[in-house]
Amino acid sequence: MKSKKQDGQTQKGLPRLADRRDCTGCSACFAACPRNAIAMKADVEGFLRPVINAAQCVRCGACSRVCPVLAPGTPSLAPTCFAARSKDLDLRLTSSSGGLFTELSRTVLTEGGLVFGVVLEKPALTAIHVAAETEEALAAMRGSKYVQSDPRHTFRQVRDALRAGRRVLYSGTPCQIAGLHRFLGKADANLLTVELICHGVPSPAVFDAFKAELAAEHGSAPTSIAARNKFYSWRRFSLVSTYADTSENREDLYTNRYIRAFLADLCLRPSCYRCRAREGRSGADITLADFWGIEKVCPALDDDRGTSAVLLHTEAGRRAWAACADGVESVPVTLEQVTAGNGAYLRPPSEPFGRKRYMAHFRDYPLAAALDLATHRTWYERLVRHGRNAARRLIASCRKRLTTTRGGVSSYLYPCRPLPFPT
Ligand SMILES: Cc1cc2nc3c(=O)[nH]c(=O)nc-3n(C[C@H](O)[C@H](O)[C@H](O)COP(=O)(O)OP(=O)(O)OC[C@H]3O[C@@H](n4cnc5c(N)ncnc54)[C@H](O)[C@@H]3O)c2cc1C
Ligand code: SF4
Ligand code: SF4
Ligand code: SF4
Repeated sequence: MKSKKQDGQTQKGLPRLADRRDCTGCSACFAACPRNAIAMKADVEGFLRPVINAAQCVRCGACSRVCPVLAPGTPSLAPTCFAARSKDLDLRLTSSSGGLFTELSRTVLTEGGLVFGVVLEKPALTAIHVAAETEEALAAMRGSKYVQSDPRHTFRQVRDALRAGRRVLYSGTPCQIAGLHRFLGKADANLLTVELICHGVPSPAVFDAFKAELAAEHGSAPTSIAARNKFYSWRRFSLVSTYADTSENREDLYTNRYIRAFLADLCLRPSCYRCRAREGRSGADITLADFWGIEKVCPALDDDRGTSAVLLHTEAGRRAWAACADGVESVPVTLEQVTAGNGAYLRPPSEPFGRKRYMAHFRDYPLAAALDLATHRTWYERLVRHGRNAARRLIASCRKRLTTTRGGVSSYLYPCRPLPFPT
């Protein structure tokens, strides 16, 4: 068993880092250490965490200063929002949503810039951030990889590229963008940061277990995995794994054991259930997301092949958006229209009842069995759940009554606190 001492956050006499439940693994502290005294190591659940080498540490405090969890940002109050999609259907079909990551990246590449994004590095298919300098290299970045990526040394690469006067686009989860901004410490006109609305990130160890099961089932390790394939449609996406003998395996989101565990929030990083990076707090210039609910807002932009929500938070974001306007169809919308179908922008997922069970068993049982174990409830658990839901309903109805009877006063009684995510 790992001792508490192994977590950088709890090492005695060493600089303070984020609490272990809040640490997002953004790697800003790792990148900022001038003595390379921090290593990012997998914890017992498979998530990377900073571990300080006490002998190398000179107590300069640089790691504490850049940690975004110790100095959270403020929400972006009035982003300019669009429903949008690339005019290039082939591009959309290979992207998760409307293909806008690629549209934005192309404008940066044509200026001789660098684009940072996530790929599944071969042969082990490990999710890592890398830099792309060509259109061809963008292809591997397309599509959501539903596992936490390791930024490795990319924060330092960004700093060096900006110092050299190059334009840079960095894409990632809001906590990674928050970490990058804290690491850089100052604004740079050449930097464009693009975050995703983030449901949460699954454990790399669970992803490894999934890949091992696929390898055992097919007699060889998968050579690629695409989690947001649109063969059926954008809404009914499927996970496709391919193999050296060119065979492929496809399962949609309702049947694939890995995607089902991800969507049920069973294998997310602990910090995801307490996430403080969303709502534009990361300082990102642009937020990209699936525009769930587009059929109600703008049916003309919905062909079930992928439509994005785009939130522009800064002038740099608005300029970058204008630069790719020719390749994009878009309609202005309100933030409320975006969040009506995508609550993940506003609130983190709740930690489900079965998470502990899933994370305790995914190594010992087949993933499908671990999923069953985590979602199966004993009569006692069902009773507790019913009691909890009844209490929630009662509180909600009392709140509603107070809101309707006391009008404007209610916001003082109940300051904008997000409602719990339905379990
Ligand atoms: C873990 C995860 C959770 C998400 N949760 C939601 C959600 O709840 N609601 C929602 O509307 N959208 C969510 N998204 C975003 C959505 O799936 C699309 O990525 C987004 O709409 C951009 O689509 P696109 O077609 O423009 O780009 P695509 O071509 O699909 O580009 C993918 C982009 O995502 C980045 N990326 C891929 N995998 C990762 C990763 N593991 N970590 C960090 N960056 C990654 C790539 O670098 C690239 O920038 C999530 C994405 C990820 C990776
Ligand atoms: S205090 Fe300085 S030397 Fe020590 S781990 Fe943090 S950044 Fe590195
Ligand atoms: S900087 Fe990032 S990785 Fe380091 S302690 Fe803070 S949240 Fe964790
Ligand atoms: S939910 Fe929050 S903490 Fe988790 S990966 Fe996404 S941005 Fe980071």
